[in-house]
Amino acid sequence: MKSFCVHGHFYQPPREDPFTGVAPFEEEAEPFANFNEKVNAECYRPNAELGNFDALSFNLGPTLAAWLEGHDPPTYRRIIEADRRNRAAYGVGNALAQAYNHTILPLATQRDKETQIIWGIADFRHRFGHEPLGMWLPEMAVDQETLEVLASQGIAFTILSPPQARGQLDGAGPYRVRLPRGREIAVFFRDEALSNRLAFDPELKSSAKDFAESCLSGGHGPDGKGLCLVATDGETFGHHHWGRERFLHDLLYEEAPRVGYEVTFLTRYLQQHPPTAEVEIVDDTSWSCGHGVARWREGCTCTPGDSRWKRHLRESVDQLAKEMDAIYQDEVGRWVTDPWRLRNGYIRVVLGEIDGWTLLAGQVSGKLTEEEAKRILTLLEAQYYRQAMYTSCGFFFEDLGRLEPRYIIAYAAKAIHLVKEATGISLEESFKRDLRLAVSWITDQTGEDIYEEVMSQRGTEAMS
Ligand SMILES: [Zn+2]
Repeated sequence: MKSFCVHGHFYQPPREDPFTGVAPFEEEAEPFANFNEKVNAECYRPNAELGNFDALSFNLGPTLAAWLEGHDPPTYRRIIEADRRNRAAYGVGNALAQAYNHTILPLATQRDKETQIIWGIADFRHRFGHEPLGMWLPEMAVDQETLEVLASQGIAFTILSPPQARGQLDGAGPYRVRLPRGREIAVFFRDEALSNRLAFDPELKSSAKDFAESCLSGGHGPDGKGLCLVATDGETFGHHHWGRERFLHDLLYEEAPRVGYEVTFLTRYLQQHPPTAEVEIVDDTSWSCGHGVARWREGCTCTPGDSRWKRHLRESVDQLAKEMDAIYQDEVGRWVTDPWRLRNGYIRVVLGEIDGWTLLAGQVSGKLTEEEAKRILTLLEAQYYRQAMYTSCGFFFEDLGRLEPRYIIAYAAKAIHLVKEATGISLEESFKRDLRLAVSWITDQTGEDIYEEVMSQRGTEAMS
């Protein structure tokens, strides 16, 4: 029997101001207060209510999961339950983990890759109650080192697009990728044409019946009996296209089975069909930039206008991260043998599983005064915001003046504030100097102007 799987990548960036914890009002989301509320009403909640999460393969980004947990507990529970039900029925769940801050991993240092992947796994375990077998790579951005870290952390598979493979593919796989240090990982490849059709074709108003009959009729893979995999943003189903959650429901529960497909999910499919063929992947590629990963590094023609601000913003945060890491290593290295293992463990404090003292007690040799412990925990909190500085959407869109790059600068400001609080060292001037080079081609504002705005708003709120 032929198999069919739809994977939905459900994700929103954090929208809360890091100083106040409050999400700003977003005019474009009206009548809702912000996009989280709008997309929830149009997509997450109706899909959960229809039972679509049961029949999908999906990942729920940690920042979105945290928001849903607080703002719409019934929807959050329905999503978690979908994975649990599949696990009870098939021994494996249908949810995948996601790298924690939606960082473009090929652009991250190895140490940051580890933190992102370890935090993503910990967040998954916290919410779903078991270890993840698959992980979604933000923007499908990949390189060997990323796959190596995934495999070393026990992740069995990920999903990529066919142009990211070297050479010709025959179907969705899974394929085996051999890694330089002897490990291996499985990779599924989505059907590019079908995924794009589902995600972007505004004409796809017709019924799921028409879609199944016209698009799914042929076979897939070597013997025509392989897997057909569609993978796209989950927000496609109801937010980007109004009413498409209904379409998805009909497709998964009625029309795909009617034309001869068993609807499955990736973890289950991998269990039944271990990889037989091998593939090599092309480093520094992604699903949403035809120029590798330039969209998030130096800018490219994927976005209109003068995108040189991206290089300067990235260099500013890279430099700040380096300075912060040196301070962190210096201060925290006096107390623990591996400060980076401590950082990786800090996610359990963020998730509320343990308190800071318990984390330190497990890793610190010797006795800390209260003041010393507080200093280490403040530096760890700074490292938390330092990771958030790399949220990919800050570098994704066309202009520096948008809300998303402003978040990046606000996270940096928060990290700088915490480092100063812990050590008295100010990294502000050098960061502002670097940010001066990043200029909006629409408003002429520099990154430094935005930094000053972030800080002055903070001042008004503190006084009011
Ligand atoms: Zn591009």
